[in-house]
Amino acid sequence: MSESSDAYKFLAEKHKFGDSETYLRVLRFLMTPQQAEMVAQLPGSFEEVAQRTGLEVDRVKKDLGLLHRKGVVIPTDYKNPESFIFCKHAERMWEICESLMGLDDLYTDEETKQLFKLWDDWKNTDYADMNAERWHNLKAMGIQALRVVPAYKAILDSPEILPHEDAREMVRVQPLVTVVSCSCRKHKGMMGNPCSRTEADPNCLQFAKSAEYTLSRGHGREVSVDEAISIIDRNEEDGLVHVWVNHAKVAAVQPYALCSCCRCCCTVWHYADLRGVANDEVFAKSRYEARVDQDLCDGCQDCVDRCQFDAIEMQKVEGSKRLKAVVDPEKCFGCGVCTLVCEPGALRMHLVRPPEHIPA
Ligand code: SF4
Ligand code: SF4
Ligand code: SF4
Repeated sequence: MSESSDAYKFLAEKHKFGDSETYLRVLRFLMTPQQAEMVAQLPGSFEEVAQRTGLEVDRVKKDLGLLHRKGVVIPTDYKNPESFIFCKHAERMWEICESLMGLDDLYTDEETKQLFKLWDDWKNTDYADMNAERWHNLKAMGIQALRVVPAYKAILDSPEILPHEDAREMVRVQPLVTVVSCSCRKHKGMMGNPCSRTEADPNCLQFAKSAEYTLSRGHGREVSVDEAISIIDRNEEDGLVHVWVNHAKVAAVQPYALCSCCRCCCTVWHYADLRGVANDEVFAKSRYEARVDQDLCDGCQDCVDRCQFDAIEMQKVEGSKRLKAVVDPEKCFGCGVCTLVCEPGALRMHLVRPPEHIPA
């Protein structure tokens, strides 16, 4: 790579954002021209990169070590970070770069603001376009890549809970669990729009390889199964929606994380909304559906705002002076968080889809 500007362009192209000026600005912020040249030579060890660039091994070690902490390069062996790859894709790099819990020495406050602003410019423009196109394409192929996992407490009395729809089981089977700050909420908070659902931080659970990675970089904290379950409980109480990849596996598989999302911040959901992508292009429904026993509904309306899918309306019902909650089954994705605030117990989850609803 002869010209440093070529290195930035080369790296942006690797992430499929070669024509994105907003993305190039992020890369220029994260790396000096010489560091971009080094990263363009990956994958490789310190020695290999030194040989390819003609730089001293110590220089390469220092810079790749720094870029590892920044989230730009990823070690091939988390326990022995001697060899690196360039972060695999832009979305992942954004998520890691802004996950700064425990990494206060990396940037000054002013630099942190600049970094978040640069990512924000990208997210609101070129990322939002890519994100919308991705969901439209997947929908056209008949693929729903993500699935809503019901709040555990909402389905406690269900006749059958499969491991891959059991948020607690998803934690129990993991060899290692860490907690990190939710990058999506961190981002919106830094941009002056704090999450409207939760103040819990950190509350994003990482598993297995992702958990190992957070420890190697220093931005996560190991948690016990009990602590992880209490984080899940809190996320459910705050009305966050659990999201898992739409398959029937729970251990040693991607995504290595249980996301608990809000429509106001989630990088996938919020930016899909921004481009008018429908909920069913982004998520598959869980096997459950909320239904209201109108005899028990006292019309408090607490469930209406809880539903991030806009599936609950208050309607006039014959024989009642009070409005009653009504769930639109088309819009209900079966997240269950509405039932957790319904004190009279009028809202309950019903199992409405067979196990085959979830692809193997
Ligand atoms: S996808 Fe959801 S839980 Fe994961 S980082 Fe984003 S908002 Fe947080
Ligand atoms: S929370 Fe329960 S009682 Fe209140 S409006 Fe909703 S269904 Fe009715
Ligand atoms: S009505 Fe809304 S909050 Fe309740 S389970 Fe359905 S999607 Fe979730």
